[in-house]
Amino acid sequence: ATPAATMVGTTIGARNGVLFKGGDILERAKDVDTVVFDKTGTLTEGEMELTDVVVFDPDGEPIPDGGTPAPDGGELTARKRPSTDEVLRLASSAERGSEHPLARAIVEAAEERGLDVPDPEAFENVPGQGVRATVEGSEILVGNRTLLGNEGIDPSPAAETMERLESEGKTAMLVGRVPAGTSGGELLGVVADADTVKESAKRAVTALRERELEVMMLTGDNERTARAVAERVGIDPENVRSEVLPEDKSEAVERIQSGGRQAMMVGDGVNDAPALAVAYVGTAIGSGTDVAIEAADVTLMRDDPLDVVKAIRISDATLRKIR
Ligand code: ADP
Ligand code: MG
Repeated sequence: ATPAATMVGTTIGARNGVLFKGGDILERAKDVDTVVFDKTGTLTEGEMELTDVVVFDPDGEPIPDGGTPAPDGGELTARKRPSTDEVLRLASSAERGSEHPLARAIVEAAEERGLDVPDPEAFENVPGQGVRATVEGSEILVGNRTLLGNEGIDPSPAAETMERLESEGKTAMLVGRVPAGTSGGELLGVVADADTVKESAKRAVTALRERELEVMMLTGDNERTARAVAERVGIDPENVRSEVLPEDKSEAVERIQSGGRQAMMVGDGVNDAPALAVAYVGTAIGSGTDVAIEAADVTLMRDDPLDVVKAIRISDATLRKIR
C-alpha cells in the first residue's frame, strides 16, 4: 500500500474509534481469517450480578436462596448448616481482596443485603480458579471445582446444582470451608453470578461469519457456561475453547494459528495480553486494561464488538481501493 492509502485508512479508523498501531497492522487486518473472542468483558458486559445462593442440607440436598436454613436447637444443628446469608457473608469476606468481576458481584450483593462482612485475616488469589482466604479463623475457598478438589473438598454433592446454573449461562462457584485446626474441608454451598451478553455481540458474530471468517471463543470459564453464551451469540460449539487458564491463553491462540490460520484475538483483560501479543492481530476492546491495550495491535475505543467488523472492513476497503 502507498503511504497515502495507509494514512487514509488509519485516519478513517481513528474517526471511527478504531486505532491501528501502524500501517503494517492496517494492512494485516484484511488478511485475518479467524476471529477469536475472549468471553468475559468482550462478548459480555463483564458486569456480573449475583443471581443465586444455594446451601446443602446434611443429605446433600440443595436449599436454594430463600429456603429454610437449619433451625437452631433442632436436629440439624449437630451437623450445622449455614444459612444462604451466612454462605454469602463468608464468600464475600474471602472475595474482598479480589478485583475479579465475579468477586465484585458477590461483595456487592452482600452489601446490598446489609450483611456484616469482616475483612479476611489472609487472602490469596488463585488465578483462573478462585480465592483462598482466612475468615474468622477458618479457611474459606470460593472458586471452581479444581480449587476445591485440590483442597480435598468433594464438589460432587453440588454437581446437579452447578450444572443447572451453568446451562443457564451463569458462572457457578463453590464455597468451601476448612475449619481452624482441621485438615478436612466441607462444602458449604454454591453462589452464581450472571453476566449479560452485549447487545451487539450476535450481530458482530453474524457479520463476521457472513464475511466467511471463522469465529471462535476463548475463556477460562467452564464448558457449559461457555457453550450457553456461545449459543446466544451464534458461535459453533466446536469453536469454543473453555477452561483455559490465564497463562495458557496465548498457547491456545498459537494452537489455533498452528495450521496456518491468521487470527485476530479480541480481548479486554490483563489475562488476555499474552494472547493478544501472539495473535496475528491483537485487538483490545473498549474499557480494556492498559496492559491489554499495550499488547494489542488495534485498540477499539468503544466497547462494541461490531467495531471488530469495522476494523476488518476499513483495512479491506482502504487497501483494495489502491490495488
Ligand atoms: P475468564 O476467562 O472468564 O475471565 P478466569 O480465567 O479469570 O475467567 O477464571 C476462570 C474461572 O475461575 C472462573 O470461571 C471461576 O470459576 C474461577 N474464578 C476465577 N476467579 C475467581 C474469583 N475471584 N472467585 C471465584 N471464582 C473465580
Ligand atoms: Mg476476560
